[in-house]
Amino acid sequence: MRYSQTIFKTLKQAPKEAETVNHKLLVQAGFVRQLMAGVYTYLPLGHRVLNKISQIVREEMDAIGSQEVLMPMLHPAENWKKTGGWDSIDVLFKLQSRTKKDYALSQSHEEVVTPLAKEFINSAKDLPLSIYHIQWKFRDELRSKSGIMRGREFLMKDMYSWHLNQEDFDKYYQKAKEAYLKVFKRLGLVAKVTEASGGSFTEKVSYEFEVLTDSGEANIMYCDKCDYCVNIDDFKKDSCPKCAEGLLRKATAAEVGNVFDLGQKYSKAFDLKVDGVYPIMGCYGIGISRTMGVIVEKFHDAKGIVWPKSISPFAVHLVGLNGLGEEVYKKLTASDVEVLFDDTDKSAGEKFANADLIGIPVRLVVSEKTGDKIEYKERNSDKIEFLDLEEVIRRLN
Ligand code: ATP
Ligand code: MG
Repeated sequence: MRYSQTIFKTLKQAPKEAETVNHKLLVQAGFVRQLMAGVYTYLPLGHRVLNKISQIVREEMDAIGSQEVLMPMLHPAENWKKTGGWDSIDVLFKLQSRTKKDYALSQSHEEVVTPLAKEFINSAKDLPLSIYHIQWKFRDELRSKSGIMRGREFLMKDMYSWHLNQEDFDKYYQKAKEAYLKVFKRLGLVAKVTEASGGSFTEKVSYEFEVLTDSGEANIMYCDKCDYCVNIDDFKKDSCPKCAEGLLRKATAAEVGNVFDLGQKYSKAFDLKVDGVYPIMGCYGIGISRTMGVIVEKFHDAKGIVWPKSISPFAVHLVGLNGLGEEVYKKLTASDVEVLFDDTDKSAGEKFANADLIGIPVRLVVSEKTGDKIEYKERNSDKIEFLDLEEVIRRLN
């Protein structure tokens, strides 16, 4: 992409109303715009990051045999009345058509996916079944001041699975937890698996995937020696009950994902039966847009964002000075390298500041000074090297 040809430029200053780092930096660097509290437009750079996160999640869900679909955001009220959610879920957005029919906006998709699965599950041979999609969710959140980390409209990957018995469910639950850890690792995040109660869904155990960050809204305690982590509510211990060696530390964290054992609640509500048995159902969420915000909270410095390679909007930020860089841009692009090419006539200083703000992991400079070499610098290092194009391409691949 040529920077001269996009209208979505960076700003000199962060928006005044922004209270969190992700909100400030994502707006200033030209990734998102806020339409109203909790509702954002994703500009080309931001849209690319969302797609990259989605793709990593997609690959890991496919790898555990889940099938991708795309379910609607507009739901008939009847489905939500069947499960009681219509009256009990306070964040549910409800609307009425001009013919006075009631609808709900997707706050989650159990009410849609269960009747869908019912149509296709005809016998025990059809189980286990796992379905997922990546779709927008709507929630009437009271407070939405954490940038894209708490949206009233946000992108979620939600997966649902059905099993003949608890044993089969437990096996898949374990597989899904492992897939989640792979996802967060590929995103450059350390997610702590936190045991929690099932909340509104069920009394069974659920697990949250928490990333430590001051801008998170979850209070947790984690062991400083092993991987033990719990929700803080009513927890009054200081030594780790798991390894008995570590001390528990208090922290705030952001929940980037969770997995629930839903039991037979939804199978019963929609009368989904196999050989007279209601299957055990699980649901597994990952907040795609929240995760993007968490990544900015974790990876930034005083100059701007520092994207992990795996989800950076582009692989390199090519700065051309004095009208140079065309040829390198064309060759990199021809080698399938994703390049953001700053071909504007701004000063070198402005271009470098912009590159730091946007946060692409590698900056290349072509100028009169670089001759037949290319200046190579990583965003998170001060080391500058002068390399051949071939060497640059080799490193990027
Ligand atoms: P929270 O406790 O943060 O409100 P939740 O328990 O309501 O989360 P789920 O309904 O299980 O979350 O949704 C699955 C995932 O979607 C969460 O783990 C989180 O990453 C993300 N998520 C939930 N609510 C929001 C929101 N308002 N904005 C952005 N992402 C969200
Ligand atoms: Mg919530």
